[in-house]
Amino acid sequence: MYCLKCGAKGNLYSNLCEDCFRKEREFARIPNHLTRMVCTECGDYRTGSTHWVNKFDGMQSLIESNLEFDPIVTDPLIDYPEFPDESNEQTIELNIIIFIDDIEIDVPLNFRLRTKYHVCDICSRKRGGYFEAIIQIRGDDRPVTPKEQEGVLAYLLKKIEEHSSDRMAFITKETVVKGGTDYHMGSTKFSKAVVRELQHRFGGKITETASIFGQKDGKDVYRHTFLLRLAKLRQGDVVSDGKHMYLVSSISKRFAYLKDLTTWRKIKVRYEHFKKYRVKADAKLHEQAVIIHSTEKEIQILHPETMKAVSIRLPDEFVRDGEETAVVSVDDELFLA
Ligand SMILES: [Zn+2]
Ligand SMILES: [Zn+2]
Repeated sequence: MYCLKCGAKGNLYSNLCEDCFRKEREFARIPNHLTRMVCTECGDYRTGSTHWVNKFDGMQSLIESNLEFDPIVTDPLIDYPEFPDESNEQTIELNIIIFIDDIEIDVPLNFRLRTKYHVCDICSRKRGGYFEAIIQIRGDDRPVTPKEQEGVLAYLLKKIEEHSSDRMAFITKETVVKGGTDYHMGSTKFSKAVVRELQHRFGGKITETASIFGQKDGKDVYRHTFLLRLAKLRQGDVVSDGKHMYLVSSISKRFAYLKDLTTWRKIKVRYEHFKKYRVKADAKLHEQAVIIHSTEKEIQILHPETMKAVSIRLPDEFVRDGEETAVVSVDDELFLA
């Protein structure tokens, strides 16, 4: 077989010898100028209607959407260079490697990169105070503690970071109100999911309400409020039902597990019954109270605050281990913890 162009004999590629084939065909092309759009607020990259959170993905998408290949090319390898951060116009060089039958062809390309700055749609929404939903954090029969506030916010921020591909997952505004905090959120879907996760983590009850705030394409648009009322009882609380004193050993979505401080018997209490218990705010845990004396049924302990000897009847499960033991003091009473 002979090359149609030069008449050389040998392997042919689309009727041409290898040399003519390499010279004749334009395997790939890219426009002379490409413009990238970068958000001045969040650094987000935009290509057409697609957004990218980092420079490499943004540049890769910009290049891929502008590259054109000869139909003969399948599975090209694109060798991307380091992309600059600077905004001044510069030349970007690319190398494309293609494989056709038994030959490998390097196709060097270059283009001038321009950078334009703008404020992306999401950042302009945030600036404008846009929100679809509100997450309200309150306490049940008590205010939300500063530690819980911090915990909730840290958790929200962590989830937002994990959902960085959902650009509507953001907090527009955090407002501290009486008894808790309100979060204005960019996305209803994200809010709904995250409030469930908050409930799992912090316990409590969710109430969802919705109100119409406008119309879009002839349909009512709702704004949702997700109220998470954190459970009245918390792990580590000492509580009383009027007869017995309990330590809250753990909390789940629907139950609290209480340990009777006198008998060490464990009970499980449903969320709806939490209101029967009063939290003893002045209860104190002392990890190392001194044991003065102990018998099979009784133990004598030096009260860590009053420094008086107190006798306590031993719970069945109690095992003495050393000269000290953990106790809980509530008002004048002392319990083995
Ligand atoms: Zn030829
Ligand atoms: Zn932005």
